[in-house]
Amino acid sequence: MNLQDVQKICVAGEWRPGGGDVYATLYPATGETVSTLRAASLADVAEAIEGADRAFRTSGWAQRKPHERAAVLYRVAQLIRERGEELAQLQRLDNGKPISETRNLVASAAGTFQFFAAACETLEETIAPARGDFLSMSVYEPMGVVAAITPWNSPIASEAQKMAPALAAGNAVVVKPAEVTPLLALELARICEQAGVPRGLISVLPGKGSVIGDAITLHPLVRRVSFTGGTTTGKHIAHIAADKMMPVSLELGGKSPTIVFDDADLDHAVAGVLYGIFSSSGESCIAGSRLFVAHGIYDAFLERLAAGAAALRVGDPADEKTQMGPLITARHRDSIESYVALGVSEGGRLRTGGARPLGAQFERGNYYLPTIIEGVRNTMRICQEEIFGPVLVAMPFSDEGDLVEQANDSVYALAAGIWTQDYKKAWRFARAVQAGNVWINTYKQFSIATPFGGWRDSGLGREKGRLGILQYMEQKSVYWGM
Ligand code: NAD
Repeated sequence: MNLQDVQKICVAGEWRPGGGDVYATLYPATGETVSTLRAASLADVAEAIEGADRAFRTSGWAQRKPHERAAVLYRVAQLIRERGEELAQLQRLDNGKPISETRNLVASAAGTFQFFAAACETLEETIAPARGDFLSMSVYEPMGVVAAITPWNSPIASEAQKMAPALAAGNAVVVKPAEVTPLLALELARICEQAGVPRGLISVLPGKGSVIGDAITLHPLVRRVSFTGGTTTGKHIAHIAADKMMPVSLELGGKSPTIVFDDADLDHAVAGVLYGIFSSSGESCIAGSRLFVAHGIYDAFLERLAAGAAALRVGDPADEKTQMGPLITARHRDSIESYVALGVSEGGRLRTGGARPLGAQFERGNYYLPTIIEGVRNTMRICQEEIFGPVLVAMPFSDEGDLVEQANDSVYALAAGIWTQDYKKAWRFARAVQAGNVWINTYKQFSIATPFGGWRDSGLGREKGRLGILQYMEQKSVYWGM
């Protein structure tokens, strides 16, 4: 990708500037222009989806043997790995995450393609024992054109999580990356084509979500939408899906509780809580943003936690040692600042952070310090609303029953963290906490083999897991008389 050129988008296999407005993507660390591109237009959306439908029906991709499709997807994984460092640097420019994190995201994208190649090869269809003079079979068919709509916080990993199973299942995919981070989705589409995915089967349409994303969701030829993003957008998509009787998966927001019991390994818990909230600058759906600490250790724990937060290396995402980079946009930082002001006006006390870092190197970037707010109640807005930034609210607890109630008192139910050395307590809380994902004595660890998703306002459906491929297929029962 030559970043000096106006970037081309991918419309039904044709690489060309979009028909929409020209816009620039900016490096969050300096505000400099990274790339210039023309967004997709509504005409591009129609052409991409009709082209995807045509490619689905005529390219023979869906009819290829599973091991043949798998071979192409293995090649995608290999090409991502071969270009790993280049892609990690591109993602750093795209969304300002530290290079140590973007390398992991690129590796995870390669692993996802490899995993779904294997899932495609090993998918079993069943023949049930006869219950009469017939055989019955359960088979799976691809859906046709599916859409992948992704946010800006983990490009390439988010796109891979949708594209890999969708392609493995035999579908065509129209990808709508976040407007501010389109580059990795475009590169991934190029890699897929290079690996042998038929042209036209993939389109990538950067642009405004409310225009381009909406048009994709509404299009009658789109049979499924896999969405990751905010809860408000997810609910809007769910309404359209209900009208179309279209399956959707919605990976949405969170306000995840992290619970530290007085018998926790405190070195481990301090490091884990810091990582859970401040990695990715807190711009993570699963950020452990609501901390509950056992009353007896609260003061000592907060002392260590605040010292750890203040010592985190905030800075240049290109520096290997950086632990926290800038926020995605100046506007997003404004929103975080207003949440911190709100928390303080609600009666919260700043324990650390609550400001932009000082120094010439921070002046042009969207930097903000790791922030901890105490003296809050779980019912306050600062404890209930997703901030999506490096802001942790901390509360002591003394009663376990009350703790479970508070942890579950949220519209969100995406993730939870538990720190204790008592395995029975860990299990009890893991079962009592309402969340799609629970980490015990660790946080933000993932396995592609394990399903991921949220409850309530955190979403619908699951991604990942070997059976994640079935989300992109329709089941059919066939009865065969003897
Ligand atoms: P967002 O909802 O604003 O945008 C997400 C995507 O949807 C973007 O591509 C956007 O252009 C598109 N979009 C916006 N309006 C649309 C519409 N009307 N129709 C169709 N598409 C539309 O979210 P964001 O600000 O990009 O991302 C942050 C949010 O994503 C946070 O709430 C975060 O928790 C959530 N998130 C969830 C997960 C998860 O797996 N649960 C992972 C990452 C991020």
